[in-house]
Amino acid sequence: MNTADSEEMMLALAARGCFICEDLNKADIVLINTCTIREHAEHKALSLLGRLRKWKEEKAGRIIIFAGCAAQRLGAGVRGKFPHVDIVCGAKSIDDFDKILDKSGLFGSDKSAGKSAALNSPIALVNIMRGCSCKCSYCIVPYVRGEAFSLDFDAVLKEIETKLSLGTKEIVLLGQTVNAYNYKGKTFADLLRAALKLEGLDRLRYLSPHPLFITEEVSEIMASEPKMSKHLHLPVQSGSDKVLKDMKRGYSSGEFLEKIALLRRGGINVTTDIIVGYPTETEEDFKQTLSLVDECKFGGAYCFKFSPRFGTPAFSLKELPKEEVEKRLDILLNKIKENAKAAYKAQEGRAERVLMEDPHNGRTLSNFWVKTEASYKAGEVVTLTIKKAQESILLA
Ligand code: SAH
Ligand code: SF4
Repeated sequence: MNTADSEEMMLALAARGCFICEDLNKADIVLINTCTIREHAEHKALSLLGRLRKWKEEKAGRIIIFAGCAAQRLGAGVRGKFPHVDIVCGAKSIDDFDKILDKSGLFGSDKSAGKSAALNSPIALVNIMRGCSCKCSYCIVPYVRGEAFSLDFDAVLKEIETKLSLGTKEIVLLGQTVNAYNYKGKTFADLLRAALKLEGLDRLRYLSPHPLFITEEVSEIMASEPKMSKHLHLPVQSGSDKVLKDMKRGYSSGEFLEKIALLRRGGINVTTDIIVGYPTETEEDFKQTLSLVDECKFGGAYCFKFSPRFGTPAFSLKELPKEEVEKRLDILLNKIKENAKAAYKAQEGRAERVLMEDPHNGRTLSNFWVKTEASYKAGEVVTLTIKKAQESILLA
């Protein structure tokens, strides 16, 4: 979602003649688009911002823009602590970024410059929902991104069409609970069906679905439509019913397993997110997470140590000892690695349609990375036979 927001902001800057510059010393503008989901992410952004004070002083006219979720959370406090910041744009205001640039007086009124390089990518991210109304007990997203709402059905399709006409091959629909999409009665399944009919589309993906809203209808579309990605990133967070309840996730481990069974019928590669060391997680709860992982055979997972976020219900709970959380994370990561290895191994010998993202690397429809010595154009879709599975890449 941050990448999509960055692209949106890039478009507004590109219209004013800006382009991406790899070398900080040659750049005139730095835009930091921040995440605040865990404390560590916010610290990293603020430390970069601090270091940029010197960069700003080195040349007159340099501009620093601080945007995204940490900017939303810290608000005016950012300017107080970092007076060298020129523009602050919180996550809720990304849609108004163009107006914010105008109001800053730092840019001229000419907005006729070329299109952004972002549109040349074979993959395009399309926001279909903003915000989140789930209020999981540990999560800051609803506070920095606001209540959930679905974007206009026709406008979304129009945006997809535009991106496809510019050469995009893969569309990724985005939302914090993307599969809860509902615009005036038009459901997520309706949107998938309509998007799948558009000309030029090679594959369609979505991120992040919430287990609560996985339906038989959508699972069927995923299984039967050849252009639907056969991968789903479905965050489970924990395998313990007690912890899931404390987290206010709205489903039990049994219900999650039912959704997995539904997806497996369609041959979907499922990956997940897991939080380790939620304050009420006992040794026994953690063991239940391990057995759920064994049962689900995830193709991969992002595992996070619980990070207390100010303003969330879980913030006031007593944290578990750091060493205990580290220990659990280590055990979990090893298990995830074992399972992922098996998922990669199972791809050996298969002929897969691979969407190339650069001359030598691309992804299969099930979202496994493939590396090949042959050379292709980014955006090309080629059929490659998987010769060997390595840790987290397939060789073809
Ligand atoms: N909307 C998505 C997740 C978005 S946040 C969903 O609910 O599925 C991405 C991931 O960050 C979450 O799945 C969760 O695993 C992790 N996360 C969120 N808040 C966290 C916190 N306070 N500490 C640790 N991990 C957190
Ligand atoms: Fe956060 Fe839960 Fe919303 Fe995901 S569904 S963004 S974890 S509150």
